[in-house]
Amino acid sequence: MADFETPELFKNIHIPKLQPGVMESVGPFIAKPDHQESLGFPHELVDNWEEKAVDAMGDAVKKYRGLAVFLDSCVKCGACTDKCHYYLGSTDPKNMPVARQDLFRSVYRKYHTPAGKFLSKLGLEGLIGAKSMTKEVLDDWWNYYHQCSECRRCSVYCPYGIDTAEITMAARDVMAQVGQGMKYSNEIIGKVYKIGNNLGLPEPALADTLEGLEEDIEDETGVKVELPLDRKGVDILLVTPSADFFAEPHVDGLMGYAKVFHEAGVSWTLSSKASEAANFGLFIGNYENMRKISLRIREAAIDLGVKRIVFGECGHAWRVAYSFLNTLAGPFDFLDQNYPIPQHICEFTYDLIQKDKLKFDPSENDWMTLTFHDSCNVARASRMGDEPGGQFKIPREIIKTVCNNYVDMAPETIGEGTYCCGGGGGLLTDDLIAVRVKGAMPRMTALTNVVKDEGVTHMAAICAICKSQFSKVLPYYDLGMDMIVSVHQLVSNALILTGQETDEDEAEAAAE
Ligand code: SF4
Ligand code: SF4
Repeated sequence: MADFETPELFKNIHIPKLQPGVMESVGPFIAKPDHQESLGFPHELVDNWEEKAVDAMGDAVKKYRGLAVFLDSCVKCGACTDKCHYYLGSTDPKNMPVARQDLFRSVYRKYHTPAGKFLSKLGLEGLIGAKSMTKEVLDDWWNYYHQCSECRRCSVYCPYGIDTAEITMAARDVMAQVGQGMKYSNEIIGKVYKIGNNLGLPEPALADTLEGLEEDIEDETGVKVELPLDRKGVDILLVTPSADFFAEPHVDGLMGYAKVFHEAGVSWTLSSKASEAANFGLFIGNYENMRKISLRIREAAIDLGVKRIVFGECGHAWRVAYSFLNTLAGPFDFLDQNYPIPQHICEFTYDLIQKDKLKFDPSENDWMTLTFHDSCNVARASRMGDEPGGQFKIPREIIKTVCNNYVDMAPETIGEGTYCCGGGGGLLTDDLIAVRVKGAMPRMTALTNVVKDEGVTHMAAICAICKSQFSKVLPYYDLGMDMIVSVHQLVSNALILTGQETDEDEAEAAAE
């Protein structure tokens, strides 16, 4: 375990005593020149970076009007101060959302507002909290804008709806544009461009993995369920996070999707070109890279001649898909307009459940008592189904259909007010483990309470980042890393395939 203290858990999440500067030197590794280059950014910090950063800020506020509104409208009411999991877990006041925003706002005020420009001439810019762009400011940006998971929880409680995530994204983009990008996110985006997915898993390895999964399902059920790759002319293209191809518990979810498609009798395929649902362009706040990553999905759908696109369990991928895909890579007029474009795998499964098309034995999950973690990007930045709150209802309805034992965590910690896992927004890297563990404190508090009071043994999620983050941080809070499960892993456990040998069949055969 690392050289930092895991926060102590109390029965209730409380506002901690401030420890100014305690997280001031905790930042991620800086991207290497080749990781910057493949994304179209300068290799390293450019000579006149202060001037370039100020210009890039000016471009950002012109291009993204919402950003300018967020920067201009804060009234310092303080409603957001105790809403960030990184502040609650780290106790550093610069992790309060309003303080995080002010790191950017103070420089914006000096160079891009009439009052700031005027007062600067008199040397009085400090009166309005305006600041020059300096190395000290850059260091604070670097550290504290990488202690924000762009989860948007603070915006729910702000009376003006100010979204700190948008400011974090703008700050990260400005830094990358002057030559200081983040190693983890930029390296991953480079792999997507070069190979097709975050893991750098080439097509032959992917094909081999899928073949192995087909064998596993056949061994388990006696039924041949296909996981096709690059099959042309099928109905559905499944775009899923590459973690689904090999990591636990993600891969069990992928087997669940395959079983659902099989039982629904639809034809489908994965694509080696779009073998990644994740879009780290969102995390680095760069529209051009987000668009380039999204276009692979469009190209794959056209090449394969599919009629529908379904997304697997990935939180921010669903945000990009639901909220931006049509703008980034549309129009999708070549797809079947009778289905949602795109559709979430949970919507797909829930629809079949409602039509009574799937047969389950929920007792297969009786050894667990489940709770559900709402992932930030699904909860606050997208929707599912055709009614408000569908993104909260649909995954829970699926779980309750396939499991007999289900309990929710405390209401203020789920739904729209859900606490982030602590590893979202491009922070899922070991160089930020202190940030991740501290930021997980509120979720761990809520989880530990239902473990102790309700006998919860497992927590389900529909986000690849949440699943990976929880596997890593649960042990820091004395909880088992295998507590985290995929929703479609639960579906897979309970789904009875046509022709599948059930426990009852086996018992009958043994008795004869
Ligand atoms: S967006 Fe989330 S991580 Fe960022 S400041 Fe707001 S609450 Fe904290
Ligand atoms: S809640 Fe909104 S207006 Fe109030 S301090 Fe926070 S960001 Fe500013």
